[in-house]
Amino acid sequence: MFIDKIDIYVRAGDGGAGAVSFRREKYVPYGGPDGGDGGRGGNIVFVADPSLNTLLAFRYRKKFIAENGDPGRGSKLHGKNGADVIIKVPYGTLIIDKETGKIIKDMSDEEPFVLCRGGRGGWGNRRFATPTRQAPNFAKSGTKGEAREVTLELKMLADVGLIGYPSVGKSSILARISAARPKIADYHFTTLSPNLGVVRTGEDSGFVAADIPGLIEGASEGAGLGHEFLRHIERCRLLLHVVDVSGSEGRDPVEDLRTINRELAGYSAELACRPQIIVANKTDLIDRESADLSGLEAYVSGQGYELIYISAATGENIDRLVRLAAEKLKELPPPKIFVSEYQPEDAYAGGKTRQTIVRRENEKFVVEGEWLINLLGQVNLSDWESLNFFQRVLRKSGVFRMLEEAGCRDGDTVSIYDYEFDYIK
Ligand code: GDP
Ligand code: MG
Repeated sequence: MFIDKIDIYVRAGDGGAGAVSFRREKYVPYGGPDGGDGGRGGNIVFVADPSLNTLLAFRYRKKFIAENGDPGRGSKLHGKNGADVIIKVPYGTLIIDKETGKIIKDMSDEEPFVLCRGGRGGWGNRRFATPTRQAPNFAKSGTKGEAREVTLELKMLADVGLIGYPSVGKSSILARISAARPKIADYHFTTLSPNLGVVRTGEDSGFVAADIPGLIEGASEGAGLGHEFLRHIERCRLLLHVVDVSGSEGRDPVEDLRTINRELAGYSAELACRPQIIVANKTDLIDRESADLSGLEAYVSGQGYELIYISAATGENIDRLVRLAAEKLKELPPPKIFVSEYQPEDAYAGGKTRQTIVRRENEKFVVEGEWLINLLGQVNLSDWESLNFFQRVLRKSGVFRMLEEAGCRDGDTVSIYDYEFDYIK
């Protein structure tokens, strides 16, 4: 079973509560407040792992919840921070917001990515001591960790994609040119997940090639297995389009090329224009002198492709194929990396059930809701960027609209817990 698209639920840990505690000392009836802060909740962190090539592991585990922070304790003891959850995904996995369908992150480098931040620990009571309030008997609770549903979608990152009908010899070629050991067999659909191999072309040069499971007719309309695999070649810079010139499967190479190119075009126009080298495989099974290859050669030159005859079985021309691909790659642009379409405030867009109460209290408009307490715990309102973010969230989430509906006008005071501001449309 090959899995390259799956929904998962992730939740960062909640922050621990701050402690209310007083120092107990002999002869000191009212020791000072010494309640420690709560620990931070664990984050949800993604890491791209080069040894993975499928999202299969997520079929068995779809929920990831990071540890909560421990509450603070007396004697100024800080609660333990919750451990992060590290989620390993193959290179080229897109993290997509399930609700909006927007791309949050393309896991295409080794940089870890924090998707959900753990809640902050609440302050212990000692933080609230002031000259006039020497024995505060309250502390803050921690803020909630972020939670969300995301879709993981694998769009593999390989320089070269080997495509073609089942059994034309794609896996055999990959095994020839790299250290990868894909399954090779003479029945169709032996390969159910793409295989990746590093092809060495020099001391420290090389490229990554992927053996894409057999594309079949109707793939671009979702028939059979093909469709899922098309997305893997989306990011290949060069396609090695393999055909069986021996006709050992009773098929005509030109027909095969036409069919598959039609599938590519049906999937995306961009993909149809991707540079291709036509790899005519299994030459060991034909007599080059007597075989009629004129039809194939005419089609290929008509399309402007390059053509190379090889045999994965004997190794004929394999070196030349690798050199040809390496040269081509030098002229081609780097693989496409998807930029994030997702703004942090999108997480607060309407449609979600977030309880918000707006009410008028004398001259003020008071806004309340648990999510706002969490949000305020995460932003730093003395920082301009952070303040801007907060404003955008208020707009996106519909709080401004609710204020207007409640009669709030320019210049009125709005109060959201310990944050107050003048409303300006
Ligand atoms: P794939 O489905 O395109 O990955 O094809 P495979 O690499 O699994 O090969 C299918 C069958 O063709 C296997 O039995 C291979 O041994 C055989 N084969 C692959 N390349 C050659 C070749 O160049 N010559 C011959 N004679 N057989 C080949
Ligand atoms: Mg194969």
